Amino acid sequence: MNIEASVLIIYTGGTMGMSYNAAGALVPFNFSQILDKIPDLNSMNITVTVISFPEPIDSSNVGVQHWKDMAYIISENYDTYDGFVVLHGTDTMAYSASILSYMLGGLNKPVIFTGAQLPIAALRSDARENVITSLLIAIAKKDGKPIVPEVCIFFNHRLLRGNRAKKSQSMHFDAFESENYPPLAEAGIVIDYNHAAVKPFVPGPLDLRNRLDNNVMVLKLFPGITPRVVEHCFDIDGLKGLVLETFGSGNSPNQGWFLSAVEKALGKGIIILNVSQVNGGEVDQDRYQTGRDLKKLGVLGGADLTTEAAITKMMFLLGNENDEGEVRRKLVLPLCGEMTLPST
Ligand code: ASP
Repeated sequence: MNIEASVLIIYTGGTMGMSYNAAGALVPFNFSQILDKIPDLNSMNITVTVISFPEPIDSSNVGVQHWKDMAYIISENYDTYDGFVVLHGTDTMAYSASILSYMLGGLNKPVIFTGAQLPIAALRSDARENVITSLLIAIAKKDGKPIVPEVCIFFNHRLLRGNRAKKSQSMHFDAFESENYPPLAEAGIVIDYNHAAVKPFVPGPLDLRNRLDNNVMVLKLFPGITPRVVEHCFDIDGLKGLVLETFGSGNSPNQGWFLSAVEKALGKGIIILNVSQVNGGEVDQDRYQTGRDLKKLGVLGGADLTTEAAITKMMFLLGNENDEGEVRRKLVLPLCGEMTLPST
């Protein structure tokens, strides 16, 4: 008997489903027009169900409630489908894929984020190929088990781990890169999976963890940054966590004013996580004296975390852990493949 595979598509918006408004700007429209443009779906032997956001968004508008909605839709439908495809704008796709990877504890089915650089109605659109291959990946099985039981981004022939990806192109079709982790698959004539890089299948129920705390910020350092700017950031009312985007392998100015601002912030209980602003960079706070000074004060080393994976991890841990010590401990440990040990 040929059992049909089933996929739930969650349509959130993004360029794929956009058209031009009267003023000539791209805005999202509803999903029905996307299905019309992919007639091949009917011949794929996949049962596709679509749940659309009531108001599709440009992903620049994505926020905590949207993430909770996406995770909730997946958890409510988890047992019914073989896999999930999330149609999402590219601008913040790496943030959404990262946070969903934390929120969907125990995930053992594929959740594939995809989108497009050109609206599906455009002649040269990449949407059709991205959606069709994502659907195939979402149902792909080996020995009865999903081949990719994790949150991924599929874009322009490559499948990347979601919490390792970063948008790196806004004008070309290869919009995403994953400098610190190899692709999970390359889609050529066949879809060639890199089985060794994929998270192993672990049976068990899904554990939805949907409490998020967004009292966090990213501070990107630049030469010439003033004490006033740094002190203001650390003084933000209610701030609980800060991702510090440092130079190279985790280095910051180590002049007195900077270190005492950091020390004061840590003293107030603000958690500071050090990530590198270099794409493909890795923090090693032992390498240079400038990094060692941060470590000595209690700044946490984020190893090879992307900023996207770091800031969402902070929101996730601050929301789900009651104890500050646990937040600090888990920030420097891999939760679901987002970073490589060791972190110093
Ligand atoms: N601004 C769009 C969005 O992120 C860009 C895209 O979809 O590629 O929703």
